[in-house]
Amino acid sequence: MPELPEVETVRTGLAPVMEGQLIAKAEIRRPNLRFDFPKDLGMKLEGRTITALSRRSKYLLADLDDGAVLVMHLGMSGSFRVVEAGDAHLIAQEAFHLERGKKPQHDHVALFLSSGAVILYNDPRRFGFFDLLDRATLPEHAYFTRLGVEPVGNALSADYLAPLFVKRKAPLKSVLLDQHVIAGLGNIYVCEALHRAGLHPAKPACDLVTKSGKPTAALKRLTEEIRATIAEAIKAGGSTLKDHTKADGSLGYFQHRFKTYDREGEPCTKDGCSGSIERITQSGRSTFFCPKCQT
Ligand SMILES: [Zn+2]
Repeated sequence: MPELPEVETVRTGLAPVMEGQLIAKAEIRRPNLRFDFPKDLGMKLEGRTITALSRRSKYLLADLDDGAVLVMHLGMSGSFRVVEAGDAHLIAQEAFHLERGKKPQHDHVALFLSSGAVILYNDPRRFGFFDLLDRATLPEHAYFTRLGVEPVGNALSADYLAPLFVKRKAPLKSVLLDQHVIAGLGNIYVCEALHRAGLHPAKPACDLVTKSGKPTAALKRLTEEIRATIAEAIKAGGSTLKDHTKADGSLGYFQHRFKTYDREGEPCTKDGCSGSIERITQSGRSTFFCPKCQT
């Protein structure tokens, strides 16, 4: 499943191709993905110019010149590629995606841009979705209204988290995965950040706040590690983008950088730690951590 850094990498790859371009033709090739496509979506997109491509949590947002926003979510297996119009087989020149979904029968959306580029949305498992919303009402829409802050930038701070943690006895891992606290932070990067911060995933979140409601040093450290983990993953994604445009290569996860995720039984990589990575299940999902240096 694409996590936030991968979605940001997709945005970085698509923005220069899409921004400022008119959608000459939009083909919606099936009635639904995870949800139905909005009624007459193809018709509504045709003739519109894409003014900006941004991201909120794991949603990609294409602003159109009529005040609408095309909301795109990759779900479990969604990917985008950019091809040139007239290429009969629509062979990928650039693939901004996670799984190697290139089979044309899974290309469910095609946006033909005035530049000649065609943006293809491929999704074998069809858990992704597209929606068309009014920019003015976007913040109140159910997708966005209760989202927490982004894990990048200055909005995420220990002072922001302290009041959200103070009454939560729930494990740190589950509170960090709560999208109302931090938007777009997923399982892999929560495991990584907790390891870097030396914090046990089952520790009650409220333990990171003092009695007077102030953030502890551990919460400050955790906040810095979340931001650094995500920033490094986005940077790694950016460099894979540069590499793969030379070939048809697919854009992968950043697994080579993971210190805990999917490394059960392997030695902890932290300097001076002789522990090994264990896996436990929390809220039905795997947590990887080092019981020796995460306390
Ligand atoms: Zn360790």
